Amino acid sequence: MTRRDELSENLREVRERIAVACGAVGRSPEDVELLAVTKTFPASDVALLSDLGLVAFAENRDQEASAKVAEFAELRPGASACWHMVGNVQRNKARSVVSWADRMDTLDSTRLADALAKAVGGRGGPLEVLIQVSVDGDPARGGCPVDDVAALAEHVARSGELDLRGVMAVAPLEMNPLEAFSVLQAVVSRLRRDHPAATVVSAGMSGDLEDAIARGSTCVRVGTALLGGRTLASP
Ligand SMILES: *Cc1c(COP(=O)(O)O)cnc(C)c1O
Repeated sequence: MTRRDELSENLREVRERIAVACGAVGRSPEDVELLAVTKTFPASDVALLSDLGLVAFAENRDQEASAKVAEFAELRPGASACWHMVGNVQRNKARSVVSWADRMDTLDSTRLADALAKAVGGRGGPLEVLIQVSVDGDPARGGCPVDDVAALAEHVARSGELDLRGVMAVAPLEMNPLEAFSVLQAVVSRLRRDHPAATVVSAGMSGDLEDAIARGSTCVRVGTALLGGRTLASP
């Protein structure tokens, strides 16, 4: 089996899971975007996924991502791709991140928002951002505590350089994913009152995408189920 066949089969299975999960709650699969998390995998895999029709890719480390984005552009010149940052970003990496990322999915502080806004200035066009929500308030995992989301959203909205598109969360390991995604769903419905364009709910990974879709996810971030197990530790 070639790598292309393997990825094609995995993609078929993931799309089937998304369709079944949507069907179970009366949603349309077209309303759930599939974001391929390609961290630790080579640009050649991104090229194959692109050939198979995927257009959205996510990375969690700046250095790895900037090299991969450049390599993908060489492998598939002219192919359209939208790159997402889903990892923690040190403020001193803001300039590098905005050089390759189309959307920053893990914004969790006003300080990072300011660093990104400053870095975006002059790149020609705002940077799309999602606020990463800490559904259990544990600061160790990153994410903005639920009670601080409204203030951070206001801050982002006042910046001319950042475009608030919605929220993102990772279900804490020790929490029931349905419960975690319910918290996120409540956060986004409050957020939309003041920021109607913030419609994206990025939730669900290989292990819990069905629960996320049941709680309103509009974007699932899938790594393992598409690409296989990661051998390298991913911080
Ligand atoms: C790695 C990662 C994923 C993908 O996780 P899988 O379980 O491999 O599907 C999703 N979201 C974030 C933020 C990640 O770091």
